[in-house]
Amino acid sequence: QTVSRPGAGAQRAPLPLDVEAIRADFPILTRTVRDGKRLVYLDSGATSQKPRQVLDAERWFYENINAAPHRGAHQLAEEATGAYEEARRTIGAFIGAPENEIVFTRNTTEAINLVAYAMSNAGTAKEPEFRTYAVGQGDEIVVTEMEHHADLIPWQQLCERTGATLRWLGLTDGGRLDLSDLDTVVNERTKLVAVTQQSNILGTINPLEELVARAHAVGALVLVDGAQSVPHQPVDVTALGADFLVFSGHKMLGPTGVGVLWGRYDVLDKLPPFLTGGSMIEVVRMEGSTFMPPPQRFEAGVPMTAQVIGLGAAVDYLQALGMDKVEEHEKALTGYALEKLAEIPGVTVIGPADTVARGGAISFTVEGVHPHDVGQVLDDLGIAVRVGHHCAWPVVRRYGVPATTRATFYVHTGYDDVDALADGIRAAQKFFG
Ligand code: PLP
Repeated sequence: QTVSRPGAGAQRAPLPLDVEAIRADFPILTRTVRDGKRLVYLDSGATSQKPRQVLDAERWFYENINAAPHRGAHQLAEEATGAYEEARRTIGAFIGAPENEIVFTRNTTEAINLVAYAMSNAGTAKEPEFRTYAVGQGDEIVVTEMEHHADLIPWQQLCERTGATLRWLGLTDGGRLDLSDLDTVVNERTKLVAVTQQSNILGTINPLEELVARAHAVGALVLVDGAQSVPHQPVDVTALGADFLVFSGHKMLGPTGVGVLWGRYDVLDKLPPFLTGGSMIEVVRMEGSTFMPPPQRFEAGVPMTAQVIGLGAAVDYLQALGMDKVEEHEKALTGYALEKLAEIPGVTVIGPADTVARGGAISFTVEGVHPHDVGQVLDDLGIAVRVGHHCAWPVVRRYGVPATTRATFYVHTGYDDVDALADGIRAAQKFFG
């Protein structure tokens, strides 16, 4: 990658990752779209592409050791259990957590629902220790106005089921959390604060330290939505200091159908189950049953074994690149993209305009061109972006736009992709102008 001379427009800092070598690992990036055009994939925020190493790991599982883990006395079952539990250790180590604090779910959405349903189930649990985190009338749950619907609707529903009240922190005009009323919104009635580490629509990285400190000062739990942070920056649960962290495998080079709930063991241990059935029980009688300790208590049924093993391979891949480098790589691309977009008259970025406390999700509007039309022109050029409200409807409402066009970056993204985006936006302006 070259460094352009000063004054020659957007600056290209050397990229920490070898984009060409990485692209060679992603079979899908060799295909063309829209009549022979190179695929410029700028939609990793919705779902990431998968390197060959992840695809191979899933295939290896099915071809060699396919069996239901934790069931059966045969060799395959033993090997499947070993590989499944090894992946749990790998994924735990990736975020600095012991294996017994890692619960596999289908995705981030299910992980959040698991906590929300466990908390409402707590209200009617017959075991006294399972009632520790029960919520009811007079209690409050706090979210923010920038949450993905996955971190909003489950809490709205929890409040409807239990009679608790939902409160939220608003946003500043610059796309950041407005913490001016933090001490009022998070108060002695607060039972849980749910907040995203990085906004999927604004790109904002939130000041979690301050939020966690305030929540814990009033005795509330904190759930961090890491769907857009864990894939893109180093995250360590001890440094984070929260009680729960949730993320999706498919957004971090892993397969679809697997997500992670990390929870502090002492908190998980006091939560009743969400889904019940096989694999999560201790003793079953017709009169009633008892449940396994975490994480098994929260993993009812035969799990998504191949996907978990695939996610373990994705973590190995990311770790070989180095999460510090992944973060720096995306920061360089984000700075470059923000400069490139600022050079185009009529383009407005919705979210922080610089790279301070900001990740690589860039949402923008183009004056006089509807976001769906921008997306259409980009698609015709082979450029995949997302358009719409990005499952964060309150955010587009807050900023008074019907929708945005969003570009998101990952390890295979290079400056050429950002240049293609900028050229594509100009083409959309020309077409509709
Ligand atoms: N939270 C954030 C910040 C997201 O970006 C997403 C997905 O886009 C989710 C939650 C939900 O993830 P999933 O659809 O994998 O459950």
